[in-house]
Amino acid sequence: MTAPITPLIAGNWKMNGTSVSLGEVRNLADRLAAGTPPRCTIVICPPATLLERLSEIAGPAGIVTGGQDCHTATSGAHTGDVSAAMLADAGAQYVIVGHSERRTNHAESDATVRLKALAAMAADLIPIICVGETEAERDAGEAGSVVVDQIAASIPAEWTGKGIVVAYEPVWAIGTGRTPTSADIAQMHLTIRRELETRFGERGSAVRILYGGSMKPSNAAEILAIANVNGGLVGGASLLANDFHAIISAV
Ligand code: PEP
Repeated sequence: MTAPITPLIAGNWKMNGTSVSLGEVRNLADRLAAGTPPRCTIVICPPATLLERLSEIAGPAGIVTGGQDCHTATSGAHTGDVSAAMLADAGAQYVIVGHSERRTNHAESDATVRLKALAAMAADLIPIICVGETEAERDAGEAGSVVVDQIAASIPAEWTGKGIVVAYEPVWAIGTGRTPTSADIAQMHLTIRRELETRFGERGSAVRILYGGSMKPSNAAEILAIANVNGGLVGGASLLANDFHAIISAV
């Protein structure tokens, strides 16, 4: 029998946060210390500029950290980029790859995302591999096939190391306040689970599949209760300790 999956709640700060934002992490740490132990792994992915300082505050509170992206290479002439090894050196244990904002704004293909996931694993990081359909693709009835294709091409067959996390993030739900119906989330997460099991057998049954896209305190409990939803990737609502703690408590 497959062991139960410990849920994961990951905060993606995107390009938000300066030194003053570290106060939110101290605030979150205080709330966690004052309450019952969380029933999930908690990850915060701040901008790279805050990663090391945030990791120092987060670590003792049982919060782990991650990067928001990494380069495919270990080092070299890539001005402005950050390698997976650099993120690990700054305290990260996870890294988001293939976020839709990277796929759209930086023209990242599935092939690039796959190479980034491999780079993450080589640096001993767990990649959070993002997939999700656009609104036009959903309206055309193509959501399932788009996500299955992204999974096939973005997740390395030679997946090794500490594992992978998959985040299903419908592009049209990110930052919009809109979410799919619970039935649609359940259907997509089941599709993803079947795909992972077909490809990776028992290892595929143990992969965490996160939902992401306008998760907030008011809808977290309902979404997190859906079968095969093993946590959330949270953007806007992860910036304030109050909201992020409420989502963690909804697990
Ligand atoms: C995200 O950026 O991954 C995300 C899910 O954002 P939001 O929660 O703000 O929709």
